[in-house]
Amino acid sequence: MTSLSPSALPAAPRVGERLGRYTVERVETLPEMQGTLVLLSHELGARHAHVIREDDNAAFSVTFPTVPKDSTGVAHILEHIVLMGSRRYPVPDPFFAMLPRSLNTFMNAMTSNDWTTYPFSTRNEQDFFNLLSVYLDATFLPLMRYESFRQDGHRFEFETPDDPTTPLKLQGVVYNEMKGGMANPGSVMWRAFGKALYPDLTYANNSGGAPENIPELTYDNLRAFHAAHYHPSNAFFYTYGKLPLERILDAIEAHVMAQFTAQVLDVSIPDQTPFTAPRSERAAYPGTDTERGAQVSVLWKLGLSSDADANLRWSVLSDVLLGNPAAPLTRPLIESGLGAGLADLSGYRDSFREGAFAVGLKGLGAGQVQAVETLVLDTLRAVAEGGIDPELIESSLHQFEIGQKEVSNAGYPFALQVMFRMLGPWLYGGDPLTGLRLDAELDRLRADLNAGRVFESMIEEGLLNNPHRVTLELAPDPELAARTEADEQALIDRLSAGFTDEDRARIVAESLRLKELQAQEHPLDTLPTLSLSDVPPSVPRVPYRTEDAGRALIARIAQPTGGLSYLDVQVRLPDVPDDLLDALPLYAFAVTRGGAAGQDYVALARRMEAVTGGVSASVSSGVHPDDLNALRLSLSFSGKALARNAPALTDVIRDLLAAPEFTRDRLEQLLRQRLAGLKASVVQSGNAYAERLAGAQVSPAGALGERFGGLSALNTLKGIVEGRAVEGQSGGISGLDDLIARFGRIRDLILTGTPVLALTATEPDLTLDLSGVTSLFTGSAPVGRPAPATAPRTPQARTTDSPVAFNAVAFQTVPYTHPDSPALLVLSRLLRSNYLLKEIREKGGAYGGAASFDNREGVFAMSSYRDPNVARTYRVFRDARAFLDTPLGQRELTEAILGASKVLDPLTSPDTAGRMRFYSDQAGYTPDVQEAYKTRLLAVTLDDLRRVMDTWLTPDRAAYAVVTGRDPNDDSLKELGLTFDVQGV
Ligand SMILES: [Zn+2]
Repeated sequence: MTSLSPSALPAAPRVGERLGRYTVERVETLPEMQGTLVLLSHELGARHAHVIREDDNAAFSVTFPTVPKDSTGVAHILEHIVLMGSRRYPVPDPFFAMLPRSLNTFMNAMTSNDWTTYPFSTRNEQDFFNLLSVYLDATFLPLMRYESFRQDGHRFEFETPDDPTTPLKLQGVVYNEMKGGMANPGSVMWRAFGKALYPDLTYANNSGGAPENIPELTYDNLRAFHAAHYHPSNAFFYTYGKLPLERILDAIEAHVMAQFTAQVLDVSIPDQTPFTAPRSERAAYPGTDTERGAQVSVLWKLGLSSDADANLRWSVLSDVLLGNPAAPLTRPLIESGLGAGLADLSGYRDSFREGAFAVGLKGLGAGQVQAVETLVLDTLRAVAEGGIDPELIESSLHQFEIGQKEVSNAGYPFALQVMFRMLGPWLYGGDPLTGLRLDAELDRLRADLNAGRVFESMIEEGLLNNPHRVTLELAPDPELAARTEADEQALIDRLSAGFTDEDRARIVAESLRLKELQAQEHPLDTLPTLSLSDVPPSVPRVPYRTEDAGRALIARIAQPTGGLSYLDVQVRLPDVPDDLLDALPLYAFAVTRGGAAGQDYVALARRMEAVTGGVSASVSSGVHPDDLNALRLSLSFSGKALARNAPALTDVIRDLLAAPEFTRDRLEQLLRQRLAGLKASVVQSGNAYAERLAGAQVSPAGALGERFGGLSALNTLKGIVEGRAVEGQSGGISGLDDLIARFGRIRDLILTGTPVLALTATEPDLTLDLSGVTSLFTGSAPVGRPAPATAPRTPQARTTDSPVAFNAVAFQTVPYTHPDSPALLVLSRLLRSNYLLKEIREKGGAYGGAASFDNREGVFAMSSYRDPNVARTYRVFRDARAFLDTPLGQRELTEAILGASKVLDPLTSPDTAGRMRFYSDQAGYTPDVQEAYKTRLLAVTLDDLRRVMDTWLTPDRAAYAVVTGRDPNDDSLKELGLTFDVQGV
């Protein structure tokens, strides 16, 4: 974050230069992102791309093309197993053990359908070389122990592991992960997609592993797959940042290259034989929503995705056709009323060697295949015949320009976004530069557009007249779960039919051996680590200048944004009447998706696509650093645009503030979409919902959070959409007309608020006139101080369609400036890594367990994710205090403090650094206040952790909530003194 002068950037090497056994093949400038791309090759065949850029966040990845020939999940299981111990780091879990020993900004590993990648990023130089060493050792020199294969791959185990008379079970982390994955409609859709379009290629296999095929994988096959794929001759290395390239290459040479000799590998993927006539396919997922749970999508195979021109053109066409609610393919599909939204994976997909295009609808009942197919084909035909409005094409090209220029760490760190943009063309044998720089392709496209029809012909030839087409239906099957279970039992019976007594004795012995290994403590001293002196003690004082404009305060923030302007308008609200609170988050959702100032939603969506990179609105509550009861409500509009369009962006935000328009039809469409999204998120993020439900019982900010984004908000929405005004529910909102009336009052209320604006842009673009926005605010109401009542403190259970539970407990603690706050933050990290993961995940069999501390809202929470237990987990939460009396040392404490410091130093980028500083300052979280917090954090002791736990996290202060499949109340919960109040979601 502290930026060195540009002269500190290392110079790029020259083409042809030798760096050890590497040769520099190409050096290319990247003007849009102000960087340089260096492409090298190694004598052993490894390729290396290095991007030199002024960015403190450095990145690394190594990627291997992995082309499985079956569905045993070999590539995915291998990804797990290489992370379970290597030559230099022979501990069971070096990857997870590194998480708290590092200040990384990203660490992960991913298996795609035809490659596997291991990326990380960090802002600390020592950390970079620590992680580099762990990643290189793991991928090239893994131990791949037989026990690891059994633990994470698959194994037989008796229900009681030491009793061979109990039933046999199939176990394994990936085996269970994929059983869960194949219950998720999105994953089933993705697998069915590849299989339908490329039935003869590797994409027809389930690269993650099909549960029925995973047991066919042998230990020898796994090792052979590693030897054939994880080799320098098959490796694509990527590095990014301003660390010296030679030092990185030397480390790779010494650690990896020196241990290998060249090898000839064949990981090529042939062409798929084209279909001579369109096909139909079906896939099923386990589910009961036969009314609205199906989707139908029409898929086409296109040309090679390494063809940069075609890739660009299909991407632009995809955005033209589907990029916004008003787009010519999206709108007729949605307005047909057949389904609730576009099918998963709609649009152009370049993640196969030959690309694909897909479009369809979801939220369907049974029997809609023909109707959707006809609608899609008729609409495409109409678009091709009627011609595409050139303005729409300009709008999409304009979105591309924004995408090329934007430098943001939102989502993935930019350091790794660069890698993902390059990876596709690079791995498929195209030019990696085209992922980063498209000027030549854009020039050719513009010339062709001037000469005549481009996209209409692509629709005709690539889609309508292309026989390589599949209409794919994905439907819920209420019996599938039971059938899968029966199939699994049949598989176990078949595989174990010939087992002798010796076989059974061996299974018992191997199970006991695995349990013994899991219970062993492993000294982690071999792993590299950081110390507390690596934590930067100061917080960045990003400069900005402010000015008053009537009631408004404006900050102007100069940042190297790549030519984009970002405008935030935060409106601090006056007192909000209680009957408007529940409507507020719906207002924020709907206001940017409706019409405004005489334009309907279609016209406004087109206008936003043409001149902005997107505008969003959100409602939030702020807590004073000294007082948990001092809350403030804000509604914020945020948008971005190319600097030349910044005045037009300001006009859009002005119209949304002053003259939003809501029609009944559009609002109903929007609320239905939101309801479907929220419903789906309950089983996906049940822990967050349970935490909010518990937090609402102890904290005023938590009570607002529950009404804005918890299950109460879901209930409010359901009441409105389903038109049932239940007394005491739906915030008293009786239906759409009532909601629209309340929206009108919210609009008026907003304009009496206090606006705080932030404009982020390069210096010359900071003079933007903002009076169109600031002049709207004429009232004199002071900023309100909401005091929402907390919910009664009673354990709450909500039941939903879930085979597992999400348990939570929450405590109200102290405000940010209280001396105990840093210790609570450290405690949350310590409990998470050293206690809850082990007790709830490893021993309890849940997918996850966590502790968290929101140091602004003062809420401390513990929760579990996809948990088979309820009472057991609450006992684990209760026993956390006893864990603090077990022998804990300096290492555990240091790691917990390192982890906590990462929360205080989030990764920022030019678009966010200044406005985060400004709004934090405005809310009282100034650099001095934050540095005082950090100083205390670095001095936290183990005794502090015990003391804050005894003071603040006592049973009488706890609030409980669970989201689960059925009434959880039973005797073991009673023993804990817990009786849950149970309601359906
Ligand atoms: Zn996995």
